[in-house]
Amino acid sequence: MIIKGSCHCKATQFEAAYVPETVTRCTCSICSKRGGLWAYYKPADVRFISDDAKETYQWSSKICKLNFCRVCGCSTYNETPDFSTGEPNFDNPQIVLNARLFDDFDVGGIPVFEIDGKNLW
Ligand SMILES: [Zn+2]
Repeated sequence: MIIKGSCHCKATQFEAAYVPETVTRCTCSICSKRGGLWAYYKPADVRFISDDAKETYQWSSKICKLNFCRVCGCSTYNETPDFSTGEPNFDNPQIVLNARLFDDFDVGGIPVFEIDGKNLW
């Protein structure tokens, strides 16, 4: 089932190929302040209908692109390599959508997986 999402002002609109089975909450310094619940996709499984007001924040190693809408300020999505092995795999890029932006979706209805980013990086 395709799921749609948007930032508050609709400058960012996207479709993902399927509803995530879990979302991830990360305790690292930036995620805890941004407040996102993250859903991981391959780039081919996400289509951006509009992404006109994208701004990008990068910090530390600057490997990850943390995107937000410059109009309404919503944290929209991240562009990262796959970190599942502990090392960045640039051959497996990921689009990490903020599941709080999914439209007509009860994010409280799926399990939240917590990453202890505060202590891991
Ligand atoms: Zn916006």
